[in-house]
Amino acid sequence: MSPVIPIKAAASGCTDVVPLVQRGQREVFCGLTGIIWLHRKIQDAFFLVVGSRTCAHLIQSAAGVMIFAEPRFGTAIIDERDLAGLADVHEELDRVVSQLLTRRPDIRLLFLVGSCPSEVIKLDLSRAAERQNRLHHPAVRVLNYSGSGIETTFTQGEDACLAALVPTLPADTSVAAAALTHDAQAAEKSLLVVGTLADVVEDQLRHLLQKMGLNVSFFPPRNSQAMPAVGPNTRFLLAQPFLADTARALQSRGAKALSAPFPLGVEGTTAWLQAAATEFGVSPERFEQAIAAPRQRAEKALAVQREMLQGQRIFFFPDSQLEIPLARFVHRELGMNLVEVGTPYLHRQHMAAELAWLPAGTRISEGQDVDLQLERCLADAPDMVVCGLGLANPLEAQGLTTKWAIELVFTPIQGYEQAADLAGLFSRPLKRRLKLAA
Ligand code: SF4
Repeated sequence: MSPVIPIKAAASGCTDVVPLVQRGQREVFCGLTGIIWLHRKIQDAFFLVVGSRTCAHLIQSAAGVMIFAEPRFGTAIIDERDLAGLADVHEELDRVVSQLLTRRPDIRLLFLVGSCPSEVIKLDLSRAAERQNRLHHPAVRVLNYSGSGIETTFTQGEDACLAALVPTLPADTSVAAAALTHDAQAAEKSLLVVGTLADVVEDQLRHLLQKMGLNVSFFPPRNSQAMPAVGPNTRFLLAQPFLADTARALQSRGAKALSAPFPLGVEGTTAWLQAAATEFGVSPERFEQAIAAPRQRAEKALAVQREMLQGQRIFFFPDSQLEIPLARFVHRELGMNLVEVGTPYLHRQHMAAELAWLPAGTRISEGQDVDLQLERCLADAPDMVVCGLGLANPLEAQGLTTKWAIELVFTPIQGYEQAADLAGLFSRPLKRRLKLAA
């Protein structure tokens, strides 16, 4: 069994990598998919997709809605009359929103979510949101963003949603307060963790940061009435790698990003926490005291998984933008060999620490021409392929072992306590294949 490769062993890795860039047919979900985890997180929000029956089917089947449930998302269907210009779509939408808000007084934040059909008929949802706000704010805030497959892939829906929320976040007034009172304490920096995390993961990370003496807010919060304040004293750590627009929006409010790998696996989680500790002047002893026990537990649990995965060759199709951090984790902590790491977009700034940790020479591809990528994959014959649902069955039929990329987004995988579960998501398909072959 090989030990976890120490952080200091990292060279420049793939920092200067020139990715294989391909633009062709792509096989990824659209940004509507983000509604599935966002509506679970912000518990008084509602996501109204303005789209087609296809859009409605996508989110309903992906979210596994039960017939008795009252989910906090729905679809205002654009039908033939709207498309033919026989009905005033804005009037229809106003009617649907009024009905919805009358029926569901618990809604405090309403997102109008654009789709391919709303884009095709050039429906101006920002104007609709403004109009609705005039009618319903402050009881309900109405915002809009696009989840359309023309504009977004999969996890970009969350990015668009959070970026739309940033301008509405309250201002951090501590700088002004400090200037008025000459009280240095009042202008203390604050820490914001950005990106939707399962509540259990959020609680664990908050606990660890609090043990270091840090107060932390999370964005998005669990309730729209608890939005964090933001301003020049805000330091933020991305918990998800697909939030480029959100990060830009926060920076435009004066917040500063802390550079770190993402909190996947033992190394990633340690370095992510370390970035916060360093920024806020936590002593090495206090940091070590806070993380020692969970890190040890995670290392022990990972060692078991590493026995199964060591030396296995893995190929990532582009899907969620989690691919590069996941590749770093499976290579450095589980000993897997990277055949190709595909990502929908390569954001070098947010990926800087991750790229440095990938072995030099890794084939990184950006974007997709799915036929060419399938040809490469079949020629490489990896032991495992991480891909979207649409590609998994055909590849299994060719004798390859697959892992659905969407599971890696829907499962809590961040932090120490989840490191072994994350590794288990990779070892399970291999175990299943072995059993079938026995
Ligand atoms: S937004 Fe576009 S890609 Fe997504 S389900 Fe609707 S029609 Fe399909």
